Amino acid sequence: MHCPFCGMEETKVIDSRLVAEGFQVRRRRECAHCHERFTTFESAELLVPRVIKSDGSREPFNEDKLRRSLQHAVGKRPVSEDDIEKAIGRITHQLQAKGEREVPSKLVGNLVMDELKQLDKVAYIRFASVYLSFEDINEFSNEIEKIKDLT
Ligand SMILES: [Zn+2]
Repeated sequence: MHCPFCGMEETKVIDSRLVAEGFQVRRRRECAHCHERFTTFESAELLVPRVIKSDGSREPFNEDKLRRSLQHAVGKRPVSEDDIEKAIGRITHQLQAKGEREVPSKLVGNLVMDELKQLDKVAYIRFASVYLSFEDINEFSNEIEKIKDLT
């Protein structure tokens, strides 16, 4: 990286060590030009990306909203709160692993559908019927046929 003092490109790492219980790397660098020393820290960026809605607007990822739509979909179905929390954990993890700053809401919706498909078929159909906004009864029954094939 460029030297923050003189702006020259050539800096070398003279010391490197793990800090913050191993979750950060602290590096001492020295500029080859002005010989000033400085420190950099490197850590994983685990941001949950912002969500790009279908109208093009952006909103922060909202875990509560995700929880509400999952709870709504599994309403009165034999799915525990624990299973819902685990599903939220997996969805969030997959979003973080993308390493993107923004993802389309469609991607979040697809992750939710994948989780519901595993949790409860009825909940999946409930969610899909709203999310995919089935135009007619044929689309709806097609989706149910697909689910039947999985069981
Ligand atoms: Zn320098």
